[in-house]
Amino acid sequence: MKRIAIIGGGASGLMAACFAAGGDTSVAVFEKQKKIGRKILVSGNGRCNISNQYINSGKYHGGNPLVVNNIFARFGLEETVDFFGSIGLPVVEEKGGKLFPASLQSSTVVRLLEYELARKGVEILLHRKVERISKSGRRFRLVTVGREEHEFDSVICAAGSCAYPPAGGSRDGYGLVRHMQHTVHEPFPSIVPVNIPLKILHRLQGIRWECAASAVQGGTVLASSDGEILFTAYGISGPACLDISRAVNEKILQNAAPAIVIDLFPSYSEKDLMNLLDSLWSDGSKTAALSLIGIMKNPMPDVLLGIAGINPGKPVRDLTREEKRKIVRIAKAVTLEPGKPRGFHEAVVAAGGVDVDEIDPATMESRLVSDFYITGELLDIDGDSGGYNLQFAWSTGAIAGMAQHRKSKIRSS
Ligand SMILES: Cc1cc2nc3c(=O)[nH]c(=O)nc-3n(C[C@H](O)[C@H](O)[C@H](O)COP(=O)(O)OP(=O)(O)OC[C@H]3O[C@@H](n4cnc5c(N)ncnc54)[C@H](O)[C@@H]3O)c2cc1C
Repeated sequence: MKRIAIIGGGASGLMAACFAAGGDTSVAVFEKQKKIGRKILVSGNGRCNISNQYINSGKYHGGNPLVVNNIFARFGLEETVDFFGSIGLPVVEEKGGKLFPASLQSSTVVRLLEYELARKGVEILLHRKVERISKSGRRFRLVTVGREEHEFDSVICAAGSCAYPPAGGSRDGYGLVRHMQHTVHEPFPSIVPVNIPLKILHRLQGIRWECAASAVQGGTVLASSDGEILFTAYGISGPACLDISRAVNEKILQNAAPAIVIDLFPSYSEKDLMNLLDSLWSDGSKTAALSLIGIMKNPMPDVLLGIAGINPGKPVRDLTREEKRKIVRIAKAVTLEPGKPRGFHEAVVAAGGVDVDEIDPATMESRLVSDFYITGELLDIDGDSGGYNLQFAWSTGAIAGMAQHRKSKIRSS
């Protein structure tokens, strides 16, 4: 019987276990936490945005996009939806093609995966942190923190990234794969709020506003997103900010911070906004701030005027044409300088990870160490928000799991 160890009971490890189990294999999942699937549980605000209808390699970043295409050609959206359907978990589609379990509850995803694993005889070892892997001849030796030693024919390393330690994110996986000679590209936080040092902006703390946000460098738009921005005590968060955060952090780490440009009125052209404001400015005795409170939440007018360098108490009749144009320009493009990236404790995913050129995407097997597989977020591929990261974890896990049978057949024939 072939013995397979899976390090990590997260999305990709559990999927790998489902596909590796059966036939002439015994599968053990080592999970360091007291529960499996902790990130699945917190995903999608407890609803688990399981995948996305519009899955394509353009939604992914990091190493070689050809690898992403290759992976999805083998196990993509259709196969994922079929698999979840087969274990009793139909999906429903929401705005932006986001797919959720029909239960709209992430705990049901973990519960059904657990049932499937038990049905297939997979052994789940909780509180088992794998500290070391070594290979001697064709066998792997795994040592856990309690000094237990186990031997296996094949190892799937699905230990995830260092994002979001509250749900188990750690650097463990990087250490384990480095020990197996793999290259790890230094991780950085993605899908994460952004620090904006500009103090006046912090007065907007708690305000949510529909915007268009972009990261711009030297006239080039690196990333952009339409949606809500949440202003915070340190800067910005909310979906539109999270969407552009990867591009912002990547450039900051290359010492080339881009500008963050926020359009506070994305449904108006500059001309339409000028016309609207001209009508609001028909009463010259209002202050500049008071003239704007009908179209913005308090204290947005004060902050906008502050950024424009205009006294909010200035009567509208005293605003010059140039000042009026400046108000419109800034409302359409507030330009902000990002601060130091926020930490992994808030990040939904970590960009960076194992160099994918060291992995065969047909099987997820290491090109450096045979019978050693790497899956999920531990790899140097990260997706946009919207179900893309879980899909990558499901796909890579399933491929590594399926590969165990092909290898078993080759060995026994
Ligand atoms: C708050 C939050 C919300 C998210 N929402 C979504 C969403 O809605 N849609 C989406 O697509 N993606 C979402 N993601 C991202 C998604 O959850 C991850 O990309 C995905 O879970 C990665 O799967 P993985 O199997 O690679 O890693 P993980 O799910 O992190 O699993 C790795 C497992 O390995 C275990 N482990 C680590 N080291 C060891 C060790 N040494 N020994 C034993 N066990 C170990 C960990 O405890 C963990 O259980 C979200 C992430 C977060 C943090």
